[in-house]
Amino acid sequence: MIDLRSDTVTRPGEEMRRAMAHAEVGDDGRGDDPTVQRLEEASAERVGKEAALYVPSGTMANLLALLVYCGRGDEAVVGSESHILHHEAVGASALGGISLRSVANDERGRIDPAGLRDVIRDPATPPRTALVCLENTHNRCNGAAIPLESMRGAVEVARAAGAAVHLDGARIFNAARALETDAATIAALADSVAFCFSKGLGAPVGSVLTGPREVIDHARPLRRQLGGAMRQAGLIAAAALYALEHHVERLGEDHERAARLAGGLAALPGGVLAVASAETNIVFFEIDGALDGVEFRERLATEGVLCSGTGPQRVRMVTHLDIDDAAIDAAVSATGRVIEAMRAA
Ligand SMILES: *Cc1c(COP(=O)(O)O)cnc(C)c1O
Repeated sequence: MIDLRSDTVTRPGEEMRRAMAHAEVGDDGRGDDPTVQRLEEASAERVGKEAALYVPSGTMANLLALLVYCGRGDEAVVGSESHILHHEAVGASALGGISLRSVANDERGRIDPAGLRDVIRDPATPPRTALVCLENTHNRCNGAAIPLESMRGAVEVARAAGAAVHLDGARIFNAARALETDAATIAALADSVAFCFSKGLGAPVGSVLTGPREVIDHARPLRRQLGGAMRQAGLIAAAALYALEHHVERLGEDHERAARLAGGLAALPGGVLAVASAETNIVFFEIDGALDGVEFRERLATEGVLCSGTGPQRVRMVTHLDIDDAAIDAAVSATGRVIEAMRAA
């Protein structure tokens, strides 16, 4: 199977498994796991923050930031296409009593500063806008890498209003690669930054929340409240450390393959697909309105290619560690065959 559903589907390779097998561990619930501590230090350093907290998922990392910066009845502004709004089961509202207010993401994931200013509350009347959340790369907006200038515009508005800024940087290293900068430069624009080891970095589990030490100190007991304090977590942290050391520099390969995929799909005979340009490792395309997306995905699966969809015609394919050039070419050919068969039917 060529699995392009997400970069979360990667499985640990031999060397990563070896690092896991030999990890030095302890009870992290008591602060005794040296591998988790090393991972937290390395993560904070990578993005230029004071401290970090290892958590089971990106969703928990984002939720912790929301819980730290917002009290019950406070409001957080999130992008209209953000992962926090669409894919995290509104934990902030359900568990934290936090109102999520959205501001438009344009098709490239950007937030217009004037639009942001419009949704920030008047300080005289509750709710208070306590936090603004940004996302980079932007998952639902074609995996776009948001340029620093664009982020800066939104950050200035947030700061002028006295709101903190959290960056959902699940794929911050993909953003850094695409923007030809480093993750710390992007992270410097936000107070706290979450990123995932389990996406393109290829670790089996885990994410991290990074930020000022007082924020992380505040997040730690909240992680316990959420059930996210783990025990000999060094076993999985070792995989994350391995990923941080070995799989960041290679992300450019995934971007090249995504571009190759997008180019191949766009060049299918008859120009049957509307393909968004691939800025990072995520490719979205639209199939013909007369064709059914569910049927398309099912037929493609029988050809040995898995993809995901976010609308009746919108298809997503994501490149990652376990996808090579041959897999890309095979995926393009299979897509061509399926589309042709569906149009003929
Ligand atoms: C995957 C992802 C998350 C959450 O990660 P999980 O580990 O799946 O909870 C958050 N934000 C973005 C943009 C993501 O792509």
